[in-house]
Amino acid sequence: MSGLDDKFIVFIMGGPGCGKGTQCAILREEFNLAHLSSGDLLRAEVAKGTPEGLEIKSFMDEGKLVPQETVINLMKKAIMEVPNRGILLDGFPRSVSQLEEFERTVKPAKCALYFSCTEEEMLKRIMHRASHAAVKRSDDNPETAMKRFRTYTTEAQPAIQRLREMGKLIEVDAMRPIQDVTDDARKAFI
Ligand code: AMP
Repeated sequence: MSGLDDKFIVFIMGGPGCGKGTQCAILREEFNLAHLSSGDLLRAEVAKGTPEGLEIKSFMDEGKLVPQETVINLMKKAIMEVPNRGILLDGFPRSVSQLEEFERTVKPAKCALYFSCTEEEMLKRIMHRASHAAVKRSDDNPETAMKRFRTYTTEAQPAIQRLREMGKLIEVDAMRPIQDVTDDARKAFI
């Protein structure tokens, strides 16, 4: 994609509830990065209430991946709109196919940060978010969370493995307190 020569992309990976969004909010401020979350971009489409938005919601409520063309088009548009040199793609890619298509048609990522966490801990964090968030997410319930974990294992884990083989993966133990996780994550930017 043209216009991206002086920019760099970092993929932010990890299961639902591992703390990707929390870490991105900190890293964005510290390194003046753009933070683009595929989940947030999709929720903004759902909020428009269009027929396409309703279709997107049906995938999200089942914990399934939204069709790739929709997600990549939203990502491309958002990438072109941000002024920052460094861009965090939070929750993207979620499959080998998304990874390949993005790197082929947009730009190869500089690296990928992978926040590793057990399902038990992720479920705890999701339920904590569900009871504390001002705006509730319709997929933050135990039943959909289990479906999201399954999608993550079958679809996203192979993409993580591929990035590891490419030598681009930086794995961070996300089971620790927020500050300790950030201390490791910032190594991707210095
Ligand atoms: P998240 O906010 O990252 O937890 O994502 C919430 C939901 O949005 C996921 O369970 C998927 O249904 C959908 N989604 C988010 N990112 C992607 C993506 N890269 N590809 C396909 N679907 C996605």
